[in-house]
Amino acid sequence: MGRNTAIAVDANGSVAVPALTSSLVDRQRRLIDYLRVSVTDRCNYRCTYCLPEEGVSHATREDILSFEEIARLVACFTRLGVRRVRLTGGEPTVRRELPRLVELLREIAGIEEIALSTNGHLLPEMAASLRHAGVDRLNVSVDTLDPDAFKRITRGGDLARVLAGIDAARAVGYAGIKLNTVAVRGFNDAELAAICVHAWERDLVPRFIEQMPMASGALFVPGTLMSAAEIRATISSAFPEARVVAEPSSRAAGAGPARYWRVEGIAGVGPVERARFGVISAMTEHFCDTCNRVRLSASGALHTCLAHDDATDLRAVLRQGGDDAVVDTIRAAVAGKRDGHTFGLLGIGGPRKAMIQIGG
Ligand code: SAM
Repeated sequence: MGRNTAIAVDANGSVAVPALTSSLVDRQRRLIDYLRVSVTDRCNYRCTYCLPEEGVSHATREDILSFEEIARLVACFTRLGVRRVRLTGGEPTVRRELPRLVELLREIAGIEEIALSTNGHLLPEMAASLRHAGVDRLNVSVDTLDPDAFKRITRGGDLARVLAGIDAARAVGYAGIKLNTVAVRGFNDAELAAICVHAWERDLVPRFIEQMPMASGALFVPGTLMSAAEIRATISSAFPEARVVAEPSSRAAGAGPARYWRVEGIAGVGPVERARFGVISAMTEHFCDTCNRVRLSASGALHTCLAHDDATDLRAVLRQGGDDAVVDTIRAAVAGKRDGHTFGLLGIGGPRKAMIQIGG
């Protein structure tokens, strides 16, 4: 394929992909093979730690990439060795006709896995169509199992709907759904073990996320940060009869940001191997040295680090140049990927962007 030759998306939605150009390796020798794609910067929930009350501007309709543009960009990433894509947001399910995008991405030869992060509100209606379109794996965010507290932290969310959505997803064949919980002292710290049990009984994988000071720390209340060590200790102390043991492979390069722990010696929660939980510890035990990912915003900005505001406008390159120019631009951006984040425990050092604008 010659320079500036566009990757074609035909009437059937098939995407023609040229040969692999090379791998994406940054100057820290980290292999980038995972792309998170935000498909919208809007959300039907307004989680208090995620969305500032004011000051977040949303992209206009013209700014947002079309599905065909997203597919072309993803195809460019596959030329550079990206094999896994996660759709996120905002809330990805509020983007109209999301399953059509999934079908387009499925047509790209290099893509081995498509995952989706969602708050689950629309899963009761959408689980079957997402499965049918080709979403392989689901993460659902649930910060509490108390309906009133859930309504408070999401500013209006409906826990019963989300739990019904998870059931709907399991019913159409999703196994090992990850239940993502941001651990917030004073809000859900007393519930972490109950969330684990709820997950284990349903073949879900509970994961606890340390709060990160996005949006210039505007939403970050330092005393509410639960460290990975505290999360582990809190869960361990709820199961005094058990041994909490680190899974050996959980820090392998490319294994993802969560470290997993097994809770051995408790009964009544399903098969023994289910009793495990993950911790995503960006703040106190960061994993920048094994970072394997980059992020594409809904308007086509490539963010090579969650914690920095640097971004490269791939939409402009796509619209003005061609796919080969996009590939060159991605390679140059990854070469400049930051070595690590500068999040500080007191809530400074993070980016101006809010999580809703990039998708976690
Ligand atoms: N709406 C989808 C969802 O709820 O999963 C995808 C986007 S959401 C921004 C992705 C994840 O980021 C959610 O699990 C959310 O709880 C988490 N998140 C948002 N703000 C965060 C913060 N400041 N620190 C840590 N995690 C955060």
